[in-house]
Amino acid sequence: MRFDVITIFPEFFDGFLAHGIVRRALKEGLVRVEAHDLREHAHDRHRTVDDRPFGGGEGMVLKPEPLAEALEALGIRPRAGNKGTKEQENEKAEIGGLGTGERGSEGAREQTRVILLSAQGRVFTQAVARELAGLERVVLICGRYEGVDERINELYCDMELSIGDYVLSGGEPAAMVVMDATMRLIPGVLGNEASGEFESFGATDAEIDVDVEGVPRSQHGAGGLLDYPQYTRPAEFAGLRTPEVLMNGDHAEIRRWRREQQLLKTLKNRPELLGGAALSAKDRRFLESLKSEFPSR
Ligand code: SAH
Repeated sequence: MRFDVITIFPEFFDGFLAHGIVRRALKEGLVRVEAHDLREHAHDRHRTVDDRPFGGGEGMVLKPEPLAEALEALGIRPRAGNKGTKEQENEKAEIGGLGTGERGSEGAREQTRVILLSAQGRVFTQAVARELAGLERVVLICGRYEGVDERINELYCDMELSIGDYVLSGGEPAAMVVMDATMRLIPGVLGNEASGEFESFGATDAEIDVDVEGVPRSQHGAGGLLDYPQYTRPAEFAGLRTPEVLMNGDHAEIRRWRREQQLLKTLKNRPELLGGAALSAKDRRFLESLKSEFPSR
């Protein structure tokens, strides 16, 4: 899988790419990440990438020309449906209404998503990460200032993604969030192939092709619930003991306890997730028993 990031701060990504799982994935050739400097596509003396907004208002807006040129340099062409009418005529035949760019192969554009990072976007979730992890290529456009000329979105982007309901000063941290969460779902990137399925927001048991009765090393899919709490040595820390159940070696008991902790934590911190979670009758009974503790939920 390949990520191309268009940014005015390509060096922003150096630290991100040099550590941990991301670094290993790059080293092993499981993913490629290239940060492209938008300013290389600005041709005036000052390499200007921004301009004042039409209609007035605060701040500056990223100009369309350098962004369009940067995208074209990556082989991304306007989506046929959104072109000016003349160009549109010539491209009607193209698959899925999408340009095929550098590739000449029609499948390549289908396996590519061009994404504008934007506070106005659809919210990035684990489900979106799973969707992206199945692609060959993701192109991420990082906005700055007051944002990006809307015609770039209209012409080239398959989606706008927001990483949450707050405003960042640039799309770069958002691009890292999207890349990090997506990469760890690519087979081989995590040491243990399946472990992503078992984390918070993971797949349901039914979607996981493993023996759920085995050793209780996260052997239950998170099933739309948050993950259970983890403990490591020492067994007692600052007067707090690790729950005994985790140290007695009874796998069935450990699984039950972890499931209950997932339910408890989800109820406490993110009760709205319970509606979409795959719950057994036993889970529901346990939640029912917590009602007195959390009457408002
Ligand atoms: N005026 C815009 C915010 C611009 S912030 C608005 O109110 O919607 C500058 C850039 O930061 C944006 O173009 C976008 O690329 C990025 N950005 C800001 N918040 C973001 C978020 N929640 N998710 C993803 N990108 C974000």
